[in-house]
Amino acid sequence: MTWPRQYGGHERSALERFVVVEELLAAGAPVAAHWPTERQVGPLLLRFGSAQQCRLHLPAMARGERFFSIGMSEPDSGSDLASVRTRAERSDGCWLVNGTKLWTTAAHHSHYILVLLRTSPPGGDRHAGLSQVIIDLAAPGVSIRPIQLLSGEHHFNEVTFADVRVTDDMVLGNVGEGWRQVTGELSLERSGPERFMATVQLLSEFVRAAGPAADEHVVAAIGQLVAQLWTLREMSLAVAGALDAGLPVATEAALVKDLGTRFDKDLIDVVRRALPTEPVIDSANRFAALLADVVMLAPGFTLRGGTTEILRGVIARGLEE
Ligand SMILES: Cc1cc2nc3c(=O)[nH]c(=O)nc-3n(C[C@H](O)[C@H](O)[C@H](O)COP(=O)(O)OP(=O)(O)OC[C@H]3O[C@@H](n4cnc5c(N)ncnc54)[C@H](O)[C@@H]3O)c2cc1C
Repeated sequence: MTWPRQYGGHERSALERFVVVEELLAAGAPVAAHWPTERQVGPLLLRFGSAQQCRLHLPAMARGERFFSIGMSEPDSGSDLASVRTRAERSDGCWLVNGTKLWTTAAHHSHYILVLLRTSPPGGDRHAGLSQVIIDLAAPGVSIRPIQLLSGEHHFNEVTFADVRVTDDMVLGNVGEGWRQVTGELSLERSGPERFMATVQLLSEFVRAAGPAADEHVVAAIGQLVAQLWTLREMSLAVAGALDAGLPVATEAALVKDLGTRFDKDLIDVVRRALPTEPVIDSANRFAALLADVVMLAPGFTLRGGTTEILRGVIARGLEE
C-alpha cells in the first residue's frame, strides 16, 4: 500500500496500511506468508536496493506473485546476530555462499531469500563485515528442510547453502553495511498490529462464548483485555505515524512488541481461567479449536522478531539516550 506507484504500489500512508492490516487480522485472513516480503524486504529494497533490483522484484511483489524469506537466524546465532557464520567469499568475479539458516518462515513457498552473512571475517568491530544478499531459492546448492511446529504444521525451515553462486547485482546495498540495513528493518518487523493481534480472534470468540448474561468476573476480564488491546493499538498507531514522519522508532517499536506479545500470551491465560474449556484441535466448538491453535503457537510470539529479553535491552538503551 505504501510503495511508489512506479513499482505497483499505491503511495498510501503507514496509517492507511495500519487500518487494512488490522482489518485483515481481525478477520483472520491468511496473511502470514506475506509479512517478510511486504513488511520488510520491499521497504528494504526501496531504501537500499539498486534501481535494477527494485524494477526486478518490487512490481512482482506488489502483485503478490513473488515471496521473499528472511535469512537471519542460524543454528548458533539468533539474538546475537553479529555472530552469523554463513559467509560469502569472492571466487571468479562473484560470491560463493556457504552456511545454514534456521527458522526460515515460508522458505518452502518463497522464490527468494534475503540472507545476512559475513563478507569479511569479524575483526575488532563485530558489526562490520556483514552484508545482505538476495538468493534465488531454486539456485543450485540451495536445500530446504522442513521443521514442524508443535501442532505438526510446516511453517518454517532450515535452509542450507553449499557453494551457491551470487553475482554482485544480488548484493543489497553496500558490501559490509548489512548490520545497519538489518537493524533498520527490525523496527518495521516489531511495531505493527500483528504484534498484539495474534490472539484477537480468541478474544472475539471469548466475548461470543461468554454471551450477554456473563458472570461479573468474565465481564471484568473482557473489560481488562479490551482496555489493554486499545492501549496497544494507540501505541502501535503512534509508531505508524512516526514512520510516516520519517522519525526513528527503534525503541518505540521494541516497546510495542514486548508489551504486545506479552498481551497475546496473557490473553490466553485470562480467557482460560474465565471460561475453563478443554482446547481441542479441529473441534466443532470454535472457542475450543481457537484455544488449541493459539496455545500451540504462543511459545513463538515472544521469540520471533527479537526475544523479550533482547527487546528490553533495546528499550533500556533507548531510554538512557
Ligand atoms: C515462529 C517463528 C518464526 C521465525 N521466523 C524467522 C525467519 O523467517 N527468519 C529468521 O531469520 N528467523 C526467524 N525466527 C527466529 C527468531 O528470530 C529467533 O528465534 C530469535 O531471534 C531468537 O534466537 P534463538 O532462537 O537463536 O534464541 P537465542 O538467541 O539462543 O536465545 C535463547 C534465550 O536466551 C535469551 N537471551 C539471548 N541473548 C540474551 C542476552 N544478551 N540477554 C538476555 N537474554 C538473552 C533469549 O531472550 C532467549 O530467551 C523465527 C522464530 C519463530 C519462533
